[in-house]
Amino acid sequence: MIQVIIAIFFYNEFVNGKKLQFIKNQLEDSRALGKLTDNSRKDFLDAQEYLQKYMVSQDDKDLQAYFQSLTKLKINFDKINDYEKTSPRLKKNLSRHVKDTEQTTKLKNLIDSVYQSSLNPPAKAQDKEYEPPKYKNDFDDIKIETHKYADTIKKKGLFGRLKDAVKGKVDVQKESTVITLTNNKTIDISQVKTKMDNTIKSMDKHYAAEVKKVQRYAAQKQKDNLQFYSNFSKLLVYSNSLIEVYESAIRDFKSELEKEYNQQSSDNNKIRTYLVLGLMILMFIVSILIMYFTRMAFIYERKLNEANGEIKKNLNFKNRILGMLSHDLRSPLKIINIFIDKIYRSTEDETIKDYLKSIKFTNSTLLLQSNQILEYTKNQDAEKKLIQSEFNLKNEIGSIVKVITPYLETRNNKFVITDRIPEDRVVFSDNIRINQIFMNILGNANKFTENGQIDLTLVTESIDKNTISLITTVADTGVGISESDLAKIFDPYYQGIVSDEVDNLGAGLGLNLVKEIVELFNGEISIESKLHKGTKITFRINLNSNNNGNTN
Ligand code: ADP
Repeated sequence: MIQVIIAIFFYNEFVNGKKLQFIKNQLEDSRALGKLTDNSRKDFLDAQEYLQKYMVSQDDKDLQAYFQSLTKLKINFDKINDYEKTSPRLKKNLSRHVKDTEQTTKLKNLIDSVYQSSLNPPAKAQDKEYEPPKYKNDFDDIKIETHKYADTIKKKGLFGRLKDAVKGKVDVQKESTVITLTNNKTIDISQVKTKMDNTIKSMDKHYAAEVKKVQRYAAQKQKDNLQFYSNFSKLLVYSNSLIEVYESAIRDFKSELEKEYNQQSSDNNKIRTYLVLGLMILMFIVSILIMYFTRMAFIYERKLNEANGEIKKNLNFKNRILGMLSHDLRSPLKIINIFIDKIYRSTEDETIKDYLKSIKFTNSTLLLQSNQILEYTKNQDAEKKLIQSEFNLKNEIGSIVKVITPYLETRNNKFVITDRIPEDRVVFSDNIRINQIFMNILGNANKFTENGQIDLTLVTESIDKNTISLITTVADTGVGISESDLAKIFDPYYQGIVSDEVDNLGAGLGLNLVKEIVELFNGEISIESKLHKGTKITFRINLNSNNNGNTN
């Protein structure tokens, strides 16, 4: 359950955390969009102001500023449009605010087209160029020549003229103009008047036509400009409505996202709180369980210790009994052997001799086993170590062989000894243990071989100036050991399958004991065997060749 809680915790942190992050990003976008609509509103107001200014001033600069504000407004709209394409949610919000989506597209198209038309600004009210009159002149045939005639008034000096001036007496020099026709005709005044009238009439007509033209042109211009201004004001109105649509859609978009963000983060927090609470409850339960089991474990441990003590007590008792039994068995068994030997020597009957051989074999096996059991029970808990004494190695092994030879003969086995131990090799080691190894291995060879041969080979090897190795091989031609048994042969209480084939009174302790002893001598032991072919055991033990040195 703790694992499940942790898994949910991680799920909440990663997956729901990701969701929250996604909403947060959208919220940031919505804020950016809000800024865009604010900018659009500002650009829109600027555009309106500049247009009004231009209408009053007709200044190109104002018109230019108006277009710049429009361009900015259009860029803002395009950005909002782009975001709308990537955000289905904003699209949904927009479509909710604009009932007729076609209307929005129309609106946008109109903005675009008016914007395009704004690139061709209205012609400023210019004066129509005046066309020079082309009326007919009837005076072509009249060449006027002017002759000036002045009367002869005598020129006065300065003071004379001043005097006249004070008196108000003016002598004016009169000039007169005489007009003559070029064709030297005499001037007919009535003809001139007629011509003058005609000319004036023609001028009137021309100017009336010109004035009318100018009036028409002015009217047309005024119409064009009105169209232009109405387009621009329409554009402003549409832009305003579009900004409003955007503003409200983005506002909704933002508030929806905020709501969703709050919901998601409160969900996440709720899950987190529940998980922590659950974890605390679980930990509490686990703590109680741990306490309970610890207490139980203590109780069981106490009981186990009690039981263990009881077992140890019983085991010690069993060992004591076994030790006593094996110890007390040895003397009668030895006595039986003595009497068997006596009867053997006194009888000539071959059948009785054969029986006696079998009885002696069984009796000797029992003796060996009681020795073994005694050894095992006596030293089971004691730390095993070598008890060293000085002896001649060749003599020691010789006496072991001598003791065991009669035993080997009970099974009609041929005993072949190859002894290469130097005569004078004195060693400082544990002869009792060496004795035990030999008795066990030779005893086994005899036990599992009948009417065969047992080869004992003894070799020494110098290791260093203080140590020699005794390498011993015992090979028999007996029943052998199966491959499956070979691996376990050194385990305590292990007996091979062939043990049943022979009259084996053993307990499966011999080889285990031998291995332990060989290791005490820093040596090694190996076994080779083939079922029904025979067994070969080789062991090496290291012995001190100098009683000053102590390798063990
Ligand atoms: P046991 O008391 O049974 O002899 P050991 O530990 O001495 O116990 O030997 C273990 C087993 O190893 C024996 O039961 C037997 O199956 C096998 N074994 C030992 N030595 C020989 C041998 N020389 N030939 C055949 N089997 C052997």
